[in-house]
Amino acid sequence: MSGVRAAERLAVSVKGIVQGVGFRPFVYQLAHKHRLTGWVTNTSGEVRIEVEGVAEELKAFLTELESEAPPQSHITGVMSSALPPAGYHDFEIRESVAEAGKYQMISPDLATCADCRVEIFDPANRRYRYPFTNCTNCGPRFTIIEDIPYDRPLTTMKVFPMCAACRKEYENPLDRRFHAQPNACPVCGPKLRLTDASGQNIESADVVADATRLIKDGKILAIRGLGGFLLACDAKNQSTVEELRRRKQRPAKPFAVMLPDMAAVEARCSVTDEEKTLLTSAAAPIVLIRFKENTDIAVSVAPGLKYLGVMLPYTPLHHLMMAGIDRPLIMTSGNLAEEPIAAGNAEALSRLDGIADYFILHNREIFSRYDDSVVIHEAGSKRMLRRARGFAPYPIRLPSDIPQLLGVGAQEKNTFCLTRDDNAFISQHIGDMENLETVEHFENTLRLYEKMFRITPEAIACDLHPDYAASKWAEVEASRRELPLIKVQHHHAHIASCLAENAADGKVIGVAFDGTGYGDDGKIWGGEFLIADLAGYQRAAHLEYLPLPGGEAAVRKPYRTAIGYLYRLFGQNGLTKATACLRGVEGSEIDLIKQQVDRGLNTPETSSAGRLFDAVAAILGIRTEIQYDAQAAVELEMAAEGVDTLDTYPFDIIVENAVRIIRLKRLFESIFDDIENGVATAEIAARFHNAVVDIIDQVCHSLKDDKGLNSVALSGGCFMNRRLLRQTIERLSNSGFKVYAHREVPTNDGGISLGQVAVAAATSTKHEALSTNI
Ligand SMILES: [Zn+2]
Ligand SMILES: [Zn+2]
Ligand SMILES: [Zn+2]
Repeated sequence: MSGVRAAERLAVSVKGIVQGVGFRPFVYQLAHKHRLTGWVTNTSGEVRIEVEGVAEELKAFLTELESEAPPQSHITGVMSSALPPAGYHDFEIRESVAEAGKYQMISPDLATCADCRVEIFDPANRRYRYPFTNCTNCGPRFTIIEDIPYDRPLTTMKVFPMCAACRKEYENPLDRRFHAQPNACPVCGPKLRLTDASGQNIESADVVADATRLIKDGKILAIRGLGGFLLACDAKNQSTVEELRRRKQRPAKPFAVMLPDMAAVEARCSVTDEEKTLLTSAAAPIVLIRFKENTDIAVSVAPGLKYLGVMLPYTPLHHLMMAGIDRPLIMTSGNLAEEPIAAGNAEALSRLDGIADYFILHNREIFSRYDDSVVIHEAGSKRMLRRARGFAPYPIRLPSDIPQLLGVGAQEKNTFCLTRDDNAFISQHIGDMENLETVEHFENTLRLYEKMFRITPEAIACDLHPDYAASKWAEVEASRRELPLIKVQHHHAHIASCLAENAADGKVIGVAFDGTGYGDDGKIWGGEFLIADLAGYQRAAHLEYLPLPGGEAAVRKPYRTAIGYLYRLFGQNGLTKATACLRGVEGSEIDLIKQQVDRGLNTPETSSAGRLFDAVAAILGIRTEIQYDAQAAVELEMAAEGVDTLDTYPFDIIVENAVRIIRLKRLFESIFDDIENGVATAEIAARFHNAVVDIIDQVCHSLKDDKGLNSVALSGGCFMNRRLLRQTIERLSNSGFKVYAHREVPTNDGGISLGQVAVAAATSTKHEALSTNI
C-alpha cells in the first residue's frame, strides 16, 4: 500500500444468494481493483469480508459490491462497520466457516452459460464435448448439495478428486472456475455411459453421437440429467410419440419439447419478447407458448392444445445432443404416470424398465430430485405453474418475520413450505401424494430443507381434508414431534397464499375458483368468495351446491357431473337434455346416475367451479371423459380461443342466511338455447367464459358495497385458465378493484403450503382476535 494516507478497515457482511455464484472471486477482484487488503470467507450464514485501505476506495468498494455483483447472485442485505486497521498485506480468500444454527440461501441449478457453451464446441479446448462442463456462473447447485456451507466436500462431487489442471482453475481467484464446486473435466470428472434397457453397457466411443443416432432411429432414451431422468425421443415421429404415450401410461397429457435455439422456437411458435426472456434466462424453464399450425411437431405431442411447452437446452449434454440432432425432442420426466421423477441409476433401470429402449447414465449423484419448472407469461407477468428447477429453493420473502413453521400442502401437485425469519422456503414440486414413492420424496426433501436452512418447526399446518396423505402424515408427525397441528381450510389457504406472496395486508374479497377442496360443512367446495385475511375468513358467496354422482368417478367422467347438474336443475327435463347432448352415453347409464342422485348414494354436493367447467365441456361434446387432470376445462378454454365476443349468459344471485348463492339454471338454459339455435361451439365456449367473469365481477361488486372492501385476491386451479385469468384481472382492475394474483407461487395446489404457514402464523400471533370478528 502506498501508505501516504491512513488506512481504514471495514467489516462487511453480505446476505442473500451469494454462494455458488462466483461471489468470492468477484470480491477478490473488486478488492484488488481498489487496492484493498484483507480477506473474504463463506460462513453458513453469509459472506463475510474485511477490507483495509483508503476511505474513498473503501466507499467505492461498498458501492460496487452491490452494483457490480455477479449476475446469478441476489443480495438481500449488506452490513458494514468500522474497525481499527489490522495491517493486512494482501487480500485472500479464506476457508469456509461452518457456524451452528446459521443458514444460507442456496442457488438453484443454472443453465449452461455462454462461455461454457463456447468451450464444449471448441475442438482445441480441453473440455471439447465434455457433458459436465460448468463454471461459477452455471451448472448444478441445489441438486448436488448435501449440506451447507456450499463447498465441494458437502456436495456429491466429493468423490471426484480434481486433476492438476482443474485444481489450478479452482484455486486461481482470477479464473472463471475459481471455487466452482462442481468443476470437472474429461480427465477427472463424471462420465457418461450408454446401456441397453437391461442395464448392459454398450461399447461407445462417443455416447452423445450414438444416442443421437438412436433417437433419429425412433428409439426412446432415458437420460440422467440435472435433477433426475428425462425421457427423450423425436418429437417429429408420430409413431414414437404414441409409443412413448403407451409405455408411460400417459394417453393425452401434453409433452414438453426441447428445441435447439430461439430460431427453432420462432419457426414453430408465436413467441413474445417476454417469453423469449424466460426461455433464455438462467432458470431456463418450460414456457407454454402459442404454437403455429402445421409445423413438423407431431400432433400427438400436445393433442387438442394451442400452447406448446417449450424449453431450450440447459446442460452441456443437451447442447451437444441438440447440435447433433437438429430437430425437436420430447423431453419429459422419467417416470410412470404420476410417480416422482427417477433420480438414481439402479432406480431408473428398474422403474423405467419397459419405457426406455436405452439409458444414458452417469456417475454424478443427484442428491435432490428436481423437475423442470413450467411457466407462462400472461396478463402482464410471468406466472409459475410448476416451480422447481431454476427457482427452488429460493424463498418467497414475507412482509415480516414469522415463527418457524411447516405447511405440508394438499394432495396433487404438492409442495411443502418451511419458514424462518421472513423467508418462506417452498419446496420444489413434489407431486401426487397418492403414491408411496412421492411421500418418500416428500420426507427426504423435507429433511434436506430442514437441515440446509436450519429449521425446526414449532407447529405443523395441514389441509382440513381428513383423507389427504399429507394431512395424515402431518397428524402422525405432529404427535411424534409433540407439536401443535393447525388445520387450514383449502380455499382459505389458497387466498392466504396469494396474500402472502403479494405481501398484502388486511381483509380482501378472496375469489377461490378451484377443482376440489374440503369445506367446513363437509361438502366439496370450489367456487368460493371469502371475506378473508390471513387469520380467518367468512364464506360470503359460492356457486350453488349441485350433485356429483360418484364423487371421484364424476371428476374422471365429466358426463356424470353434467347429468347430475342437469337433473338437479331441470328434473326429468334435464335428463332429456342430457340424453340429447351427451351422445355416446347409454340411456341405461343416465338412468343409473339418476337413481344414484335420488338416493344420495356416493353423491356429494359440490360448489366447485372446476366441475362447472367440466359439465359445460361435456354438454358441448368437447370432452365427456378425461385422461389427465382438468383436461375438459383446458379443452373448453382452447375451444374459445380466437373468439372475441361480449355476449354472455345470465345467472341469479340469491341470499340465504346472509350468504350469496349463485344459481346456474338460467346459465344452462341459455347454453341449451344456443345449442338449439346452432350457435358455434367456439362462440358458446367464449360466452361461457364471459359469464364466469360476470359472476366474479358482480359478486365482488355486491360484496364491495356490503363490506366496503376494494381488494380482490384470485387463487385456485381454475386461474391456470389463461383466458379466465386475463379477463378477470382486466374487468376487476377496470372497475377500480386492487387485484392480487399469483406470479412466483403456483395458483394451483402447488401454492397451498405457503397459504397454510401464513394462516398458521397469523392465527398463532397477534391477529387472533380478527377471525371471530370478521
Ligand atoms: Zn459456465
Ligand atoms: Zn479435471
Ligand atoms: Zn385447490
